[in-house]
Amino acid sequence: MTARVLVVDDILANVKLLEARLSAEYFDVVTAMSGPEALEICERGRCDLVLLDIMMPGMDGFEVCERLKKNPVTQHLPVIMITALDQPSDKVRGLEAGADDFLTKPVSDVALITRVKSLARLKTLTDELRMRAETSHGMGLTDVKSAELVKKPTQGKILIIDDRTRSHERIRRALSKNHMIDIETNPNEGVFRAAEQAYDLFVVSLNFEDYDGLRLCSQLRSLERIRHIPILIVAEPEDNARVLRGLDIGVNDYIVRPIDPNELNARVDTQIRRKRYAQHLRENVQQSLEMAVIDGLTGLHNRRYMENHLSNAVDETLARGHSLALMLVDIDHFKSVNDTYGHDAGDEVLREFAARIRKNVRGADLACRFGGEEFVVVMPETDLYVATQVAERLRERVAERPFGIEDGARHIDVTISIGISILAGPEENGDVLLKKADLALYRAKRTGRNRVVSDAA
Ligand code: GH3
Ligand code: MG
Ligand code: MG
Repeated sequence: MTARVLVVDDILANVKLLEARLSAEYFDVVTAMSGPEALEICERGRCDLVLLDIMMPGMDGFEVCERLKKNPVTQHLPVIMITALDQPSDKVRGLEAGADDFLTKPVSDVALITRVKSLARLKTLTDELRMRAETSHGMGLTDVKSAELVKKPTQGKILIIDDRTRSHERIRRALSKNHMIDIETNPNEGVFRAAEQAYDLFVVSLNFEDYDGLRLCSQLRSLERIRHIPILIVAEPEDNARVLRGLDIGVNDYIVRPIDPNELNARVDTQIRRKRYAQHLRENVQQSLEMAVIDGLTGLHNRRYMENHLSNAVDETLARGHSLALMLVDIDHFKSVNDTYGHDAGDEVLREFAARIRKNVRGADLACRFGGEEFVVVMPETDLYVATQVAERLRERVAERPFGIEDGARHIDVTISIGISILAGPEENGDVLLKKADLALYRAKRTGRNRVVSDAA
């Protein structure tokens, strides 16, 4: 993975130093020597991540960070602030300005590379989600609220896994004003507890009495269901190497004891905010995926989905030597339903018809709305005899009982015609099946409607 890192510092020597180290790890580097210059580069989308010096004349790092996080175009860019001294107050101010992480000068190589890598990875992931969500947004399918990223998160559900009473009590006190806290003192139980409820964050100690905290983190990361939930580890100052190892295996952030409550709150908020944003994007994508394959009126699959499915079904059928049947169903004189009772009544008939189709096909069959008042059912492992029975049964289920319209106030008689086709061999494909079924359907219409005709007949 390569990312383009923007290095911002007013001192040329510092810029050069960071540039050299990052280039050695194959990162692309762009540089800026003032706040306004940095903002312009970010706004033009020229970088994936920002390494930002705090102390600069004119516009300082805090202000640059605040502006980046307020601007919808740049708010997704991860920002790592570089402080001259290990000043807790600087950290808190930086986190409040929206910074994603900190490095203290002199910057150690390992810390620099690990943090840059971990944030670049995160950015790649959210970029992908964001792009998909925006595509569906552009298609008018969903609504993307980027406000999720800016809002202060409240009512987060947090699980603390820590066996030291003094330590977890201190964390609980710091966080309980804004969030709901559960505590687990047994690391073996921790993994189970973690999967039990919908948590927003895990706070995990690195210093259990007789358990490796990193092992616990890697177990949390390996469970599919909770893989997306951020982990914040709590470490002792001498745990530096293990912290870096943790970031490598997917831990999102860390805090060092003695814990500063303000810093803890700021870090927790950042993690929960990001997690909720990613979750929001994911749900958006999920929803638009469904909308792309489902017909809105009837809830059946749509034509696009059916065509994909049909071509897979043909391949599978040929590979296994089974038979494959398709039926094309068309409502008789449907135009006159619309003309007589109105378009809404027509829609009600289509929905009711979809429900009757669903009830009369097997789980392995795919029923879809092909368009207008035409429906297709793809039936794997089905020969002509069985397909004809299924079609006859469906035809009867439609004709025998009138359809309710105007919310059941009136009832009208509906009939359907069905054309059946059977895959004859490897020289045929989905299109041929559809064409054959269409010819059969045409014959059913011509010979009086309310009937089933097969392409073999
Ligand atoms: P035939 O028995 O030959 O199939 O006659 P028909 O009237 O059913 O066929 P035709 O293709 O002439 O008309 C289909 C009608 O279906 C025309 C169109 O207005 C209506 N239709 C298509 N989609 C919808 C829809 O989503 N809702 C409603 N209410 N009507 C629709
Ligand atoms: Mg038609
Ligand atoms: Mg029709």
